[in-house]
Amino acid sequence: MNKKMYINGQWVTATSGQTRTIINPFNQEQIAEVPEGDETDAQSAVDAARNAFDHGEWRHTPATERGKLVSKVAELIERDQQELAELETLDSGKTLTESLDDMSDIAEVFRYYGGLADKDGGEMIESPLPDSRSKVVREPVGVCGQITPWNYPLLQASWKLAPALAAGNTLVIKPSEITPLTTIKVTELIEEAGVPKGVANLVLGSGAKTGQLLAESHSVDLISFTGGVETGRKVMTAASGNFKKIALELGGKNPNIVFADADFETAVDQALNAVFFHAGQVCSAGARLLVQDSIHDEFVEALVERTKQIKLGNGFDDSTQSGPLISKEHLEKVESYVDIGVKEGANLIVGGKRPEAEELQSGFFFEPTIFTNCETSMQIVQEETFGPLLTIERFSTEQQAVQLANDSKYGLAGAVWTTDIRKAERVSSELRMGTVWINDFHPYFAQAPWGGYKSSGIGRELGKQGLEEYTEVKHVFENTNPAPLNWF
Ligand code: NAD
Repeated sequence: MNKKMYINGQWVTATSGQTRTIINPFNQEQIAEVPEGDETDAQSAVDAARNAFDHGEWRHTPATERGKLVSKVAELIERDQQELAELETLDSGKTLTESLDDMSDIAEVFRYYGGLADKDGGEMIESPLPDSRSKVVREPVGVCGQITPWNYPLLQASWKLAPALAAGNTLVIKPSEITPLTTIKVTELIEEAGVPKGVANLVLGSGAKTGQLLAESHSVDLISFTGGVETGRKVMTAASGNFKKIALELGGKNPNIVFADADFETAVDQALNAVFFHAGQVCSAGARLLVQDSIHDEFVEALVERTKQIKLGNGFDDSTQSGPLISKEHLEKVESYVDIGVKEGANLIVGGKRPEAEELQSGFFFEPTIFTNCETSMQIVQEETFGPLLTIERFSTEQQAVQLANDSKYGLAGAVWTTDIRKAERVSSELRMGTVWINDFHPYFAQAPWGGYKSSGIGRELGKQGLEEYTEVKHVFENTNPAPLNWF
């Protein structure tokens, strides 16, 4: 596999000659040396994408043909799924089972958008004027900058790459500097599928240099960013220079509401999955549990019992249920929230520290952690810790559950557990979130839109809405009987 950047159809090193060492968060071993691009490289990639959009054939290629190429990428991902999954586990620490699931979801995303590429041929609308015809068409936006995070490196990239290509845009993608390997590999597959040079470009490097340039550049027409809120704010500010379109997928602090009439065993089991999956490094993690008074104590007891049994370890080991956190800095951040929670008066009832097992000492591991006695106003309840840290609050009435759940600056996702479907519907219609799960947690798929209300972001990925983000809407009006107006 190449360990380079891909600009204008060429695999290149950084102009500065700088490189960055990529490490495995399980044992801190070096797994790759990649170019450390900067503004100069990002500018070359933008120039290539601009030229390919303005002077190339891509946007004029029939949508059906573009769709076939995007579907071809799906086939290549399936062909190489084992290699891709292993790279993802090496780079991010997640279990191989999870990485393999990611790869199959990623192939589906490319297949879905490959199929959708030629389904919106525009529509004739009824013109209110005589002797005229009106048509509404969708066209590609132009050059797209795409910036992705480290928690789902290739999955997040696929949500951006597939619709952008299907809609006829050109692009520059910049993966997280911590986890670039699978994005490099998929760029090879995009090349192999036959996407013309200059259409899809890959630049590597820090967000402050390469990402910032993409967000600022007046040659970029759209910036699609997935990451934290504070970075999102910088991207939005930088994007205002030329009023480029923006799509922001930001953080979440997602409430998981359990009513007393829920299926107890399933709700306990899925509450664990909701928060501890991928060590809590999931934007939609159910890190905020709201439990109805009458079952609170019993529910907490069952959760703690199961939490103690979670097996941390090497993602390549079949018995591992959760891997490490991504980095030392992130581990320290999660750890600091434990101190904050204790100071705020929450009860630390399990976890709260790095594990003692010898074999976990060289990785960035943190024990699955639960706080009870939490109040909505606490920092540990309001802020995204992005680690294996669950806060538990109590509620007594349906109205109170809704009010607590909505008391957040975020609005990405949430879940409600009850066997009373009328109640589930009432609650889900009141929740101010982009996704609500009823008696489940975490499902997402290519066909359904994903994105946040409030500070969780702007715009949607996935679904037909995810393709529409990458299009401009044009109204074409035709006078079928032109004649002088004689106004002047
Ligand atoms: P981050 O904000 O630190 O970095 C994200 C990306 O932005 C990286 O590629 C980084 O290099 C780049 N970046 C950094 N500074 C930049 C700048 N000034 N200009 C442009 N780009 C810059 O986020 P992270 O730590 O990689 O990821 C974790 C965050 O991502 C969490 O908040 C999580 O909730 C969020 N996330 C959201 C979703 C979603 O769908 N809503 C999905 C996954 C992750």
